[in-house]
Amino acid sequence: MGRYVGPVCRLCRREGIKLLLKGIRCETAKCAMERQWRNKPPGMHAWRRKKAGNYAVRLREKQKVKRYYGVMEKQFSLYFQAAERGKTNTGDTLLSLLERRLDNVVWKLGFAPSHRAARILISHGHIYVNGRRVNRASFQVRQSDLVSVKPSDRSRRYIRATLGDDGPVLQPWLELDAAKMEGRVVALPTREDVQIPVEEQLIIEMCSR
Ligand code: SF4
Repeated sequence: MGRYVGPVCRLCRREGIKLLLKGIRCETAKCAMERQWRNKPPGMHAWRRKKAGNYAVRLREKQKVKRYYGVMEKQFSLYFQAAERGKTNTGDTLLSLLERRLDNVVWKLGFAPSHRAARILISHGHIYVNGRRVNRASFQVRQSDLVSVKPSDRSRRYIRATLGDDGPVLQPWLELDAAKMEGRVVALPTREDVQIPVEEQLIIEMCSR
């Protein structure tokens, strides 16, 4: 699957929220969204643009979610189709599927500073799931899965530096043993576990057209 390789801060500026795509920089004053003269949509004369119509509002909502999770259009539509086929609420299922991506789990466990860094770690074979190497960022974790770091000095040294001694503040569906560099999926993520503001109904209206 393809991936976006352009400048990422402009994605945050376009969506008007911090998508946390640059790792540590996102927490500092260097973040473009923290600067008054930069936290506007990219492009010239942004302030002259007209008020967004219905279509634009729905499109922005979908783009925001795609960009936060780092998925492209084709892959997103596959997630949407899978969510539609599910027996539960389409919006909740869609967000749960995106949350269960391995790159998202690796980021949330603190093994990587951003989704993009997590994707690189996975594709370079530094991440194991249930003791087996998985090199697909879109891998869907299941309840009770154990996500760990490759038992090699190089992998562990790199991830130790990112993880620190205590690890990040975890969401309730994840557990972490920072010393062993192992995380467990104790439950499937729910709607409340999504950390950006999303109106999934708008996405459903957009994708069902
Ligand atoms: Fe977005 Fe991070 Fe860039 Fe800030 S530093 S604009 S949160 S990618």
